[in-house]
Amino acid sequence: MEDFIKDIRAEFPILSTKVYGRDLIYLDNGATTQKPRRVVEKIESGYYTTNSNIHRGVHYLSQRATEAHENARERVRRFLNASISSEIIFTRGTTEAINLVAFSFGEAFCKEGDEIVVSVMEHHSNIVPWQMLCERKKMVLKVIPMNDQGELLQDQFQLLLTPKVKLVAVTHISNVLGTVNPVADMILTAHTAGIPVLVDGAQAVPHLKVDVQAMDADFYAFSAHKIYGPVGIGVLYGKSEWLNKMPPYQGGGEMIEQVHFEKTTYNVLPYKFEAGTPDFIGSTALAEALDFVDEIGLERISNYEHQLLGYATEELKNIDGMRLFGTATDKSAVISFLLGSIHPFDVGTLLDHLGIAVRTGHHCAQPLIERLGIDGTVRASFAIYNTPEEVDILIKSLDRIKNMF
Ligand code: PMP
Repeated sequence: MEDFIKDIRAEFPILSTKVYGRDLIYLDNGATTQKPRRVVEKIESGYYTTNSNIHRGVHYLSQRATEAHENARERVRRFLNASISSEIIFTRGTTEAINLVAFSFGEAFCKEGDEIVVSVMEHHSNIVPWQMLCERKKMVLKVIPMNDQGELLQDQFQLLLTPKVKLVAVTHISNVLGTVNPVADMILTAHTAGIPVLVDGAQAVPHLKVDVQAMDADFYAFSAHKIYGPVGIGVLYGKSEWLNKMPPYQGGGEMIEQVHFEKTTYNVLPYKFEAGTPDFIGSTALAEALDFVDEIGLERISNYEHQLLGYATEELKNIDGMRLFGTATDKSAVISFLLGSIHPFDVGTLLDHLGIAVRTGHHCAQPLIERLGIDGTVRASFAIYNTPEEVDILIKSLDRIKNMF
């Protein structure tokens, strides 16, 4: 194990957990990452030192809490390279961010007969909100297919972009296959046809540098908990030219300018989309997580994780009966596999007894699993604190499991 990884691991107390007497090997980072001490301490110090509801208070604590929350927004802006911080909307996570756009964009710009384009490899949270919109407005959902390596078919994508299409919603990185989609190119293609694009960045932000202006995304969503931050908070980036034209998603405090029984007027961005008391402690912990990531450097994280991916992939291929799903040229550190005819649930349970946490099943991407013609996979997903030694134990454990069957 390299020294810098040893130092990073030391910041994650949970990694020294024993599981059935063995060292925990946490390979379920696609579902959620573990949290460095500094993120947990940020939450604790927030409650101990600055807890007070924000925006409406004239008193000291409220002003400090407001300042911290708005600084966190600015930190997210910088992380995504958005042009202004009012384009950063705090949500509960990726799911809520996508639901917000599906509802609000849908209300503003969609009508019967219109179409939304998603891809076959979307997480349910980038499918179901669009299906709900389609049902509400009598619209049609179209799907970009992929090849057997798990790469979206760009020529087919282009053919889908008719004048009826109001929006394209596509994942930056597949949570099952690890495919890194060429979102900048896809956005250019869609924009050439006059169509805006929402990018689901849940699996991308922890692994590669995202620049929403460079890729020219109209909307970009992510969750704090997948990038070493807390659960319960996430981000919707949206271009103000869209957000300003979209109606509020939820009504309540904060999102209003004036409320009268005769008529209510709405607040400006980003508050128009942030009804109720926001997670002003979570936002500062998210900012801390982004500091953590940026201090290591996303390029370094990406290079290191790619080494792990390459090593694990080669070793897994040597196991008899191993089937890997997702072999795209541009791939992040997620490996989905099946071991012979052993059910993924059995592999996952046996690995758990050997101290290894992986995820099994459809990974909230049932249409993709159907496309692969299987019932589910075992998924190992890596983060900066994983090591080649852990990969070795995974391989040995899988060998053992295979021999048991
Ligand atoms: N999109 C993708 C690609 C994901 O992997 C996930 C989480 N597994 C989500 C969306 C949903 O994220 P959340 O549950 O944090 O809203």
